[in-house]
Amino acid sequence: MTRFARILCAIYGTTTAFLAWATTMSALADSTWPVLLFAAASVVPVIAWLREIEFAEAKAAARADMERGARVREREERRSLREAADALQHACCERWWTSLGTDHDPKCEKQRRAA
Ligand SMILES: [Zn+2]
Repeated sequence: MTRFARILCAIYGTTTAFLAWATTMSALADSTWPVLLFAAASVVPVIAWLREIEFAEAKAAARADMERGARVREREERRSLREAADALQHACCERWWTSLGTDHDPKCEKQRRAA
């Protein structure tokens, strides 16, 4: 949860406490309509607080997915680099490389072996 979200949650909590206090004071004064209105209004900051928590969790899940995807891409990149390095180890001459492994340079040791 970000600092701004924590500040918002503190404001929501303070607002809920104030509305609960106003509800109690209205109940002590036997004012029915203000009691109902303050009680109903005190639910709104709680809903906003729950939405902040839900948003923070969704943001954390998205960040975790991005990090997991980056790790998978990095692992695949390392594997393809390793495969390229393995392929380069079998390259003996330039002609073998450019002919996709079908021919060797005349000076190549493998060409002399085949002849
Ligand atoms: Zn060769």
